[in-house]
Amino acid sequence: MIRHITLTEEMRAALRKTVEAHKYGHGHALVLAGGVGHGGAARLAARAALRVGAGLVTLLPPQAAIPENAAQLTAVMLAALPDGYSLRGKLQDRRLNALLLGPGLGLPRAQEMVPAALWAKRATVLDADALSAFAADPGQLFAQLHENVVLTPHLGEFGRLFPDLATALADGVLTRVEATRAAADRAGCTVLLKGAETAIAAPGGEAALHLATGARAAPWLATAGSGDVLAGILTGLLARGFSAYEAACTGTWLHVEAARSFGPGLIAEDLPDELPKVFRAIL
Ligand code: AMP
Ligand code: MG
Repeated sequence: MIRHITLTEEMRAALRKTVEAHKYGHGHALVLAGGVGHGGAARLAARAALRVGAGLVTLLPPQAAIPENAAQLTAVMLAALPDGYSLRGKLQDRRLNALLLGPGLGLPRAQEMVPAALWAKRATVLDADALSAFAADPGQLFAQLHENVVLTPHLGEFGRLFPDLATALADGVLTRVEATRAAADRAGCTVLLKGAETAIAAPGGEAALHLATGARAAPWLATAGSGDVLAGILTGLLARGFSAYEAACTGTWLHVEAARSFGPGLIAEDLPDELPKVFRAIL
């Protein structure tokens, strides 16, 4: 059975849920992204995670990118890994309950950081460079994945990790959902294949499709940085306690809804700031 993603009462209830306590009750997301001169993607993702309701969001760029980020961030916090401190050490902090790796990370840093992050067994989104870094040996990545991970490839990134499935999709041998299902089974985690038609699958056959076409078209979402915002939305939902698959489905709907709410002329930085308007309309 394929679920066609629309706003359901279950999604509304999950988005309404708040914890009457402390900001840590809404989760603390850590964004491992951005490099010198490549910080925009990381900041977009971090802002989206905060807007979607994570209690705290910390951006952890490479040491050399601290000054440029410090000059630009306000509600998003900034952390550094001083020499001698490892990511594994940082992840001893159990309150860091959701991780994002990828946007603007750079391939060498992704190769180093992704294994350390997956070792910590947190809810995790891998996007962009965190996927492309394993193009030479996707099996090495799959061996480390767990059920609390979402991979968010666009078609090019999908082809780097699952070349045979991308070919079968291009040749019409597999549908988008079938290819994504096969990818999720192989990877052992949720896979979200982006595009105007987004397919989402979890290992074991659960699958969903979101069509940003026809009545829900949002062609202006095809703009630089919008994928980084999606990754941040998913990370924020994971921090709030959504499962990997539900974060993928709900996040995809919210991302398109924010784009539709804003309309033509949209650029990626508009998306996080449109989310409160979406929430006011639906919650
Ligand atoms: P990326 O390729 O990482 O920049 O991500 C692009 C984002 O825009 C993904 O969330 C896609 O699903 C979305 N997207 C791309 N093209 C379209 C389109 N024509 N209509 C709606 N969404 C799109
Ligand atoms: Mg991208």
